[in-house]
Amino acid sequence: MGTRKNQASLTPAERAAFVAAVKALKAGGAYDVFVAQHRTAFLAGANDPAHGGPAFLPWHREYLRRFERALQQVDPGVSLPYWDWTVDRTPAASLWGADFMGGNGTGANRRVMSGPFAFSTGEWPLNVRDPGDTTSFLTRAFGAMGSLPTQQAVNAAKNVVPYDSSPWNANSSMNTSFRNRLEGVIHNPGHMWVGGSMMALSSPNDPVFWLHHCNIDRLWAEWQRENPGRLYLPPNGTPGVVAGHGLDDPMPPWNNEAAPPTPRSVLDHHALDYTYDNEPVSPQTVSLTIDASPVSASIGRAGEVDVFSFGVSAPGSYVIETEGTTDVVMGLYGPNDMGTFIVEDDDSGAGRNSRIARNLAPGTYYARLRHYSSSSTGNYSISVKGPAGQPVIPTIQVNGPAVQGTISAANERDIYTFTVTVPGSHTIETAGNTDCFLILFGPANPATFIAQDDDSGPGTNSRIVASLGSGAYFAHVRHYSPTGIGPYSISVRR
Ligand code: ZN
Ligand code: ZN
Repeated sequence: MGTRKNQASLTPAERAAFVAAVKALKAGGAYDVFVAQHRTAFLAGANDPAHGGPAFLPWHREYLRRFERALQQVDPGVSLPYWDWTVDRTPAASLWGADFMGGNGTGANRRVMSGPFAFSTGEWPLNVRDPGDTTSFLTRAFGAMGSLPTQQAVNAAKNVVPYDSSPWNANSSMNTSFRNRLEGVIHNPGHMWVGGSMMALSSPNDPVFWLHHCNIDRLWAEWQRENPGRLYLPPNGTPGVVAGHGLDDPMPPWNNEAAPPTPRSVLDHHALDYTYDNEPVSPQTVSLTIDASPVSASIGRAGEVDVFSFGVSAPGSYVIETEGTTDVVMGLYGPNDMGTFIVEDDDSGAGRNSRIARNLAPGTYYARLRHYSSSSTGNYSISVKGPAGQPVIPTIQVNGPAVQGTISAANERDIYTFTVTVPGSHTIETAGNTDCFLILFGPANPATFIAQDDDSGPGTNSRIVASLGSGAYFAHVRHYSPTGIGPYSISVRR
């Protein structure tokens, strides 16, 4: 599948290959056939199959793809580039370099004098012209007729639904016809800003036509992706629709082919065997092995979502956890259905990592990982621990000896358990020179918070005095400072 790239990111070799293929079509006569097809469509006036109606986008999609296939017969490595005029808005853009499209027109007749399409090269005479036009050289008049569309205008156009509306022509409301808004408010200004030959019915005489329309086609593809279910309009048999603009109408000038293209046949651009370089990659699922080493991963581009799966065969407690310095958010889905949400976690792990501990029934589960910030990227690793792989929680005997512990790494959290058999007031306390922070959970449920304390004990030690009923309790010990480490001991007295 060919990838249509932003023209600004083409290498010099890619620019040269595109120009060479275009010139080869011109030399062989095929290029002028394309120009004539565009002019013929316009000359049909009220019956124009390509402009001022719903098929504006499908017709040009088919037209561009045919031109691209012709280029690829010359050089299979060439794809159409697109010109994003919300970014490349000035005559100084590399688009207008002498190795690509050439520059602005000069003098009273606005003749293009630089680049591969200047008349002086002898390789770019305008043979197909509008009726009455005798100009045989390419002309441009940057900015004389208006300005290029802004990102804001593009966003506003892309927010319009549905695709089109009655009366299905240039009078369709800009607020209820995405097509007319894109055609009239975004597409037309591109022709006008370049000016000169781009203002003509024969506008494909300027090769930048293809880059401009490629961007329009890209915006339609984005709208389609962002509005799934919003299909092409109008349906077949809608009164007042010009021939060629209905969903299943054959589109002229290809309507006499054995299997003529219709608006429906071009709705999925991937089916036409091309893609755009900025399309999001649909996530691939990476499988995780329970109790294996963490798997390295990365949020490689802003907004990316990584998907992992793991199979649970024995019911029990599972811990899915990330490591690293990237602030990832994890959602857990399943069993056996990626659309069934279980729980999401942001920062329960060490640092800003995510950690989900959950009792899971047998089945396949899915973890979806994204960055907390939709504009950020970063590396992380992820692991799943099953019941066998989880560390045994050390037990503290009530009224027994203190248990020695150490916070040996930043963000470490040590967990202890103790069992209350005689209800009553209990004192949980740390000792030593480390500024410990203590958190108490239970009974029975390790996630039921009871109390926390920093410095109620001797020095900077922590102490919790609580009246506890029978059951199992869980004491978490961490350093007061996220980066602090040091030894301590912990005891429980009744
Ligand atoms: Zn056109
Ligand atoms: Zn156009």
